[in-house]
Amino acid sequence: MHNKAFDALNIEIVTAALGAPALFQVEILDSCESTNTLLLNRVQQGVPSGSVVVCERQTAGRGRRGRAWLSAPGDSLTFSLLWRFPAGMPPPMGLSLAVGVAAAHALDDLGAAGVSLKWPNDILVDGAKLGGILVETVSEGGCHVAVIGLGLNIHLPREIADAVGIEAGALSSVMAYAPSRNLLLARLLRALAAVLEAFGRSGFADFAEEWRARNAHAGQQVRILAEGAAPLEGCCAGVDEDGALLLETAAGMRRIVSGEVSLRKP
Ligand code: ATP
Repeated sequence: MHNKAFDALNIEIVTAALGAPALFQVEILDSCESTNTLLLNRVQQGVPSGSVVVCERQTAGRGRRGRAWLSAPGDSLTFSLLWRFPAGMPPPMGLSLAVGVAAAHALDDLGAAGVSLKWPNDILVDGAKLGGILVETVSEGGCHVAVIGLGLNIHLPREIADAVGIEAGALSSVMAYAPSRNLLLARLLRALAAVLEAFGRSGFADFAEEWRARNAHAGQQVRILAEGAAPLEGCCAGVDEDGALLLETAAGMRRIVSGEVSLRKP
């Protein structure tokens, strides 16, 4: 039986699992409003790239557009990573998709089967939402700084499943043994470092093929919802080299670039 006491977040275990070189400064908090908010507030204080805040209880965990990310202590992994991109790099288009690819690598390596990605920022397992990615960027002195938040369900208590309002999934239901959260965090951070370093050199283009292969809605009829606009329907034809969604509509191919839209099954 799952015993949360055996899986407490522990800085020594995370540090040992991260190994050398020490690319990250990890801080574990018992409680905060939102790890993304906390790190965004620290950007101007000059905190280094690789700063990570992991939190057991987010009191106001966020998704996009003010939506809530719900989690219960011990049942999920919620953390944010601050990353500074090289000076002169263009705005990091497609970053939330590349982060999804990194997360999928880490989950694959740990033996989670059936991980796919939903444009632009969801991690699915067997079609259910296993995790959410929230990328927020700030421009500082010609450099783009990203605060990358990840929330992953390890177990899915009934009260969370009932409250989210969509089909949610959890690692424990697709793995014989859910991984230790400390190990999971270390693996995710290592996968993220590799992807973010490559992204800093050449942007999303190098990840486009891999994202397409993970696309949960490839070739399916989908509906794009945006506030104040009529829903747009079409066939999900993948993503462009900059991460834009390609939608084959009756009026031709459309590129959906705005992060302010949601993809749904009709
Ligand atoms: P969508 O994925 O519906 O298009 P979104 O990408 O804007 O919306 P996110 O920002 O990824 O959504 O996350 C917020 C949404 O995720 C919430 O509105 C809720 O539907 C869902 N959610 C919140 N907590 C969880 C959770 N623990 N597991 C799965 N889904 C969750």
